[in-house]
Amino acid sequence: MEKEMKFKCIALINFLVLQCLAILGVSKGFDFFYFVEQWPGSYCDSDKFSCCYPTTGKPAADFSIHGLWPNYRNGSYPQNCDPNNPFNESEIADLISSMRRNWPSLACPSSSGESFWSHEWEKHGTCSESLLDQHSYFQTALTLRQQTNILQSLKSVGIIPDGGSYSLANIKDAIKNGTGYTPWIECNEDSSGNSQLYQVYLCVDSSGSNLIECPVFSKGKCVSEMEFPTF
Ligand code: 5GP
Ligand code: 5GP
Repeated sequence: MEKEMKFKCIALINFLVLQCLAILGVSKGFDFFYFVEQWPGSYCDSDKFSCCYPTTGKPAADFSIHGLWPNYRNGSYPQNCDPNNPFNESEIADLISSMRRNWPSLACPSSSGESFWSHEWEKHGTCSESLLDQHSYFQTALTLRQQTNILQSLKSVGIIPDGGSYSLANIKDAIKNGTGYTPWIECNEDSSGNSQLYQVYLCVDSSGSNLIECPVFSKGKCVSEMEFPTF
């Protein structure tokens, strides 16, 4: 009898442990986020993209949000995780004016941003939906944007968007001093083929609340000296 009790107890504990693991596995499904900001000047003067200002007007000459991307520690990432949870602008009605300022779309044709936000939510945001619903996802990105004033970090050491050439090492140091964490820099090319500062990647823990050192770096080649174009 005692033996039977013991067996039942062990079976119950095993069952509970497996349930916990399953819940953890299913509820997270990624290891960290990349928070990616873009320099509008480098989107617009690139030979790869044509750029159109938003219907609401030319954005500020500042870094703006590209996305908040769930990622795995091995460098791969999930995408388009839930076709049953499409972007729903009414869930973020209170965030729209801040989104227009901080997350403008520069793609053509001109838009007020909804198609970009919808793309980012459906491709990336749905992969962290068990932790961040639509409102929390966009709110989290906006909060990170406020916490990381990249342009200010660069300007404070004389790195300014004047079309001049700056070193990759100095750019990374300046952002590290400003935010506390080492960024990953992605470059693209202007229409004459010069390498230029395009996107800045910072890493965020899976709660979306804390910046962390990146477990793995993304791609995007940069040369050691790059242009920081005007916008
Ligand atoms: P590209 O091939 O132009 O570098 O990247 C195209 C798109 O793939 C990115 O804008 C982004 O949506 C996605 N992507 C590229 N690298 C990563 C990555 O390391 N993590 C995540 N989550 N998305 C990525
Ligand atoms: P990703 O898949 O790389 O996260 O997002 C890139 C997609 O968003 C592309 O299809 C691109 O056309 C669209 N997009 C719309 N507006 C912007 C913008 O301002 N910057 C970038 N990088 N992509 C944009």
